[in-house]
Amino acid sequence: MTPDLQGQHVERDGVPVMRIDLHVHTEASHDCRTPIQAFPAWCLAHNLRVLAVTDHDQHWGGVALQQHVRDLGLDDQLWIIAGEEITTREGELIGLFLQERIPPNLTPEDTVREIKAQGGLVMLQHGFDPLKRYRLRPEATARIADDVDIVETFNARLSRPQYNRDAATWAQARHLPECGGSDAHTLQDVGEGWSEAPLQPVRTPEELLAALRAGQVHGSWTPPVWAFVRKQWRNLWSSASGRGRQTPE
Ligand SMILES: [Zn+2]
Repeated sequence: MTPDLQGQHVERDGVPVMRIDLHVHTEASHDCRTPIQAFPAWCLAHNLRVLAVTDHDQHWGGVALQQHVRDLGLDDQLWIIAGEEITTREGELIGLFLQERIPPNLTPEDTVREIKAQGGLVMLQHGFDPLKRYRLRPEATARIADDVDIVETFNARLSRPQYNRDAATWAQARHLPECGGSDAHTLQDVGEGWSEAPLQPVRTPEELLAALRAGQVHGSWTPPVWAFVRKQWRNLWSSASGRGRQTPE
């Protein structure tokens, strides 16, 4: 299969726009099998131009995808952010624009310090869903609130849409940029939560923050039971037909 590696041209009210998904897992995560090589064709086909790779306690997935995109000559169409979904002692946090891996099991405060020391951004993801076992604990969220740079106000995997609204209320009270995230663990889930923004390169934290502030959060929420059944089906399908094959929707 030769993937169509040409970005789409999508306009809204005459302005070219792109999608941004800041919460995606790859084969570098223990619970995900999506091959790095599968992303560029999928992203371009869905006008996803900015993608943050946020593997569980791993950083190499994002670096490998950046390299792959460069090798394909797509680095002027597809901007990959190397991130990490970091397990702290009190739940998870995401670091974006990281230079190297941050180890798990630090305190939330030390994790934030490590992210900032690398020039990275702190993103609070699925922070308001009490059924998310690994969400950052409310006490910890309160302690690091001043250091949060971005709030994920649409996560496609929450147990109830209300928890996304709670995140949006929290972000808006602090005037923080919001983003959508798919929390994708299969290729087909990539892009189910996104921000739409005017098309522009995003290579630095400042450019990302500006794009988010100019953008709008979107997403399609999936009831958890259906998401679970679908994930099992997609995993079965990809084992039966070879890793990374795209399944029909
Ligand atoms: Zn995640």
